[in-house]
Amino acid sequence: MKAELIAVGTEILTGQIVNTNAQYLSEKMAEIGVDVYFQTAVGDNEDRLKTVIDQASKRSDLVILCGGLGPTEDDLTKQTLATYLGRDLVFDTGAEEKLSAFFETRPQYARTPNNERQAQIIEGSIPITNITGLAVGGLVSVDGVTYVVLPGPPSELKPMVQESLVPLLSKSGERLYSRVLRFFGIGESQLVTVLADLIAQQTDPTLAPYAKTGEVTLRLSTKAPNQAVADAKLDALEQQILRTDGLDGVPLQTSLYGYGEDNSLSQVTVELLKDKHQSLTAAESLTAGLFQSRIADVAGASQVFQGGFVTYSLEQKAAMLGISEEDLHTHGVVSDFTARAMAEAAREKVGSDLAVSLTGVAGPDDLEGQPVGTVFIALASSKGTEVRKVHIGGRSRSDIRQIAVLHALNLVRQTLLT
Ligand code: ATP
Ligand code: MG
Repeated sequence: MKAELIAVGTEILTGQIVNTNAQYLSEKMAEIGVDVYFQTAVGDNEDRLKTVIDQASKRSDLVILCGGLGPTEDDLTKQTLATYLGRDLVFDTGAEEKLSAFFETRPQYARTPNNERQAQIIEGSIPITNITGLAVGGLVSVDGVTYVVLPGPPSELKPMVQESLVPLLSKSGERLYSRVLRFFGIGESQLVTVLADLIAQQTDPTLAPYAKTGEVTLRLSTKAPNQAVADAKLDALEQQILRTDGLDGVPLQTSLYGYGEDNSLSQVTVELLKDKHQSLTAAESLTAGLFQSRIADVAGASQVFQGGFVTYSLEQKAAMLGISEEDLHTHGVVSDFTARAMAEAAREKVGSDLAVSLTGVAGPDDLEGQPVGTVFIALASSKGTEVRKVHIGGRSRSDIRQIAVLHALNLVRQTLLT
């Protein structure tokens, strides 16, 4: 089924309101497996609205209009659609009763013919009850095209979609199921390159990559009658993806750190720390607390994190962590030595199981002859200290600091898994 959304309202075109109804409707249609091919916004103008409806009816099976069902002169959606379809407007008994009840309890309001319009539907429509407002919606099928009208206020539209429209449209029983795979340590272009064949062949399930700062997600979606059927289809595709080698010959499985739309490396890392009953501290130079802040973003972080250090200058690395100034000068602040010393000192001072340190060059200028983006990350534990040198190339200062934190989280995660 090809669907199309038309938002009616001059306020959208002038930028006074954002067309959030389109986003909401698109999301709901996707959930029930209805494909939305077009979204249009049109002002409160009869001629232009008629043009848009005419165009939609020629290319779509389902046309959902929202906005302009109210009592004022500029609310002309229902009237315009009725004229276009050559049908009359008739009163919906339920909506009329609601209107009467509304005015009975508010004698100070005058009931005008304009108000009456809110209780009307296009002849032959299935009414869509408005629980939180007065303007009734409707669904009508004419010449193979189904038209739906809904009011503009999201507080009215959303319950109508959820309670009435979705059940009316999802008779086929199929809906869209999605799974999000989250990767760290592989770029979007590399992922798209190695998965090019799978992406080119995709019909069902479909595969969509999405890049965020320092990480990539892949959304797998399929239409299925229930979760079990969907899972079988998604499992098969997921296994195919994870078996695929990256450009370095390492299977993508290695870069997968988690699942789900709302997940993150910090969340996965904190959950692992909790599961393994391990506590963590950090001493941060270039990230100046960002790593610890990401840990604290996760609910329940206090179970694994008590506190740590922000040692931005050389002097504070010496003062707060007790590292010899002479050694810091000799080895440089951005060095394997300093990262190691910071992590080990932090671990000892806090008495935690694990300690992370970050020292590097956030830019814009080079430091100690090290190029922008050079970061040393250390992880100290009872097994010893591991230091990783990473180079985060061609990024802004803010990105370098954020990506450095992701590398540090990933180091903790990988250590906990071995
Ligand atoms: P009313 O009875 O309130 O006049 P209506 O169905 O006539 O409702 P509009 O007049 O078009 O709807 O819009 C009323 C309000 O609803 C807008 O001021 C805005 O706050 C909200 N609204 C309308 N359309 C949208 C939209 N597409 N996305 C988000 N909000 C919207
Ligand atoms: Mg209005």
